[in-house]
Amino acid sequence: MCGIVGYVGKQKAGPILLDGLKRLEYRGYDSAGLAIHQRKGLTCVKKTGPVINLFKETEKCELSGKLGISHTRWATHGGVTTENAHPHVSSDGLFAIAHNGVIENYQSIKRFLLGNGYTFASETDSEVLVNLISYHYRKETCDTDKRFFESVRKTLMHVEGTYGIAVVCVDYPQEMVGARLGSPLIVGIGEEEYLLASDVSAIISRTQNVVYLKDNEVVSITPKNFTISTINRESVDPIVDQVDWAIEESELGIHSHFMEKEIFEQPVSLENSMRGRFSDDGSTANFGGLNLSSQEWRGVDRILFCGCGTAWHACLTAEYLIERFARVPVEVEYASEFRYRNAPLDKNTLFFAVSQSGETIDTLAALREAKRKGFRTLAITNGVGSTIAREADGGIYQHAGPEIGVASTKAFTSQILLSAMVALYLGRLRDMSYTDGCAFAKALKQVPELVARTLEQNEKIKDIAGRYAGYEDMLFLGRQSMFPIALEGALKLKEISYIHAEGYPAAEMKHGPIALISDKCPSVFLAPKCETFHKIVSNIQEIKARTGKVIVVTSEGAEFPADLADDIITVPDAHEALQPILFTIPVQLLSYYIAVERGCNVDKPRNLAKSVTVE
Ligand code: GLU
Repeated sequence: MCGIVGYVGKQKAGPILLDGLKRLEYRGYDSAGLAIHQRKGLTCVKKTGPVINLFKETEKCELSGKLGISHTRWATHGGVTTENAHPHVSSDGLFAIAHNGVIENYQSIKRFLLGNGYTFASETDSEVLVNLISYHYRKETCDTDKRFFESVRKTLMHVEGTYGIAVVCVDYPQEMVGARLGSPLIVGIGEEEYLLASDVSAIISRTQNVVYLKDNEVVSITPKNFTISTINRESVDPIVDQVDWAIEESELGIHSHFMEKEIFEQPVSLENSMRGRFSDDGSTANFGGLNLSSQEWRGVDRILFCGCGTAWHACLTAEYLIERFARVPVEVEYASEFRYRNAPLDKNTLFFAVSQSGETIDTLAALREAKRKGFRTLAITNGVGSTIAREADGGIYQHAGPEIGVASTKAFTSQILLSAMVALYLGRLRDMSYTDGCAFAKALKQVPELVARTLEQNEKIKDIAGRYAGYEDMLFLGRQSMFPIALEGALKLKEISYIHAEGYPAAEMKHGPIALISDKCPSVFLAPKCETFHKIVSNIQEIKARTGKVIVVTSEGAEFPADLADDIITVPDAHEALQPILFTIPVQLLSYYIAVERGCNVDKPRNLAKSVTVE
């Protein structure tokens, strides 16, 4: 949440910052702003609403400076107003800051600063940072070349909470200081230019060489170089990583929305998630970075999966897959609950974090809690170099490509697919036969093609969506491994169309939710060819008897009675354990087209932002 971009180099900073903010907009779009070091001091421009509003506002000013910071906000403290928009400038006008995170002790710092003559123009927690930097700057006695850096460093020693920051100072036209604790920040290394950003997509048009800052690191960048040290003054040898995706991957291309683009990318993203990850004999999966020997895997008695939102649904699917193939008990917890719950865990429990960005703060905190207790930790993440990837003992990169749409789509199916590959790997270490392993591996390899065939139904699904866009309530129902997909379908619809939707295990319906059924509340049933197919057909009968409209998603060969549903979407037949991936596609498309039909801003849904870096 919230995007920061900073630039120092030979070019005018304004256009580079605005371009970066545009690419980071999925992280927050309550307001946007920039502060540029100009000959006459700091010029700060802010505007509520999306980055385009800021863009128009900047057209009214002369912005020629070559050093600047910028921010797109997802408000935590203080409403969506121009005053609360970042960057915040210290009351003496010396410093400006862009901040991502939450300063938990901001009230006591504010009291202290008010007592020392500082004034505040916003309701944000962030503004205390910039004034405290100024306070330390005035007291600082070290050499001039260190004074700016030192005042930021000292300020951070007094701060509780989380931050990714970029700071500029009137007295330093060639230097910017950044730091992180809990919120991501990267350094981009260009040609005679350096950048700071919350994530790679903001700077990929300028450089592919990046350094991922670690917690408690402070960086100084100038047009010529950068230096990193810890908040305790230890110097840090930076590791420069090369980002392996191209700029086009984070652009819309022919699509109207990133969500649409990413739904249709799934045959490719799934292929990429699997690439190079099968054994030569085709009977099991291979992962490079698990850092766990076969013996250690065999010693695992229980796996605890943690995630938030869509990733939590992927964790639920992993439970079905791993218990089925590897016969290892799996538990799934919301990361935000686990971290404070102090759950008793068996010593041979393996902890698995799942997060698209790898920066989800609740999942990161749960991972740290599991590590603190001495558990072995692994992660599935799409965020190469992300904090979760770095802090877990090992893990699996999704390689799904950048996901920009706030509503996660391709990352979700890739997480399920990789869970299935973990199930295969673990199953083969336990009691899955060579023949069964080969058969499941073969089924996995067919998934991208089957997803491509499912996507061919988009026009039909669009047509159906048009007929359901006017409802205000909807149920998503499925049994067994379709239950997480029902939850995911309901979440997608809520997120982007603001229709109230609930996901339930289909058989649970009669224990409560059936009371909602009327001609005003349609249901989406996920009814694959499976053991419980006839049970779900009976559940549909129960809805029809109560005048509820029903959309059925079923699979080829299931022979669903055509007259029982108002609308039927049929996906290709697949290995039963992999059907959740295929059934995800119609619920994604349905939500997408309903939201478009309702005129909703699909890529910037109300109140939401991607990469949730605040608690
Ligand atoms: N806490 C700060 C604010 O409300 C920053 C929020 C963010 O990370 O976007 O302005």
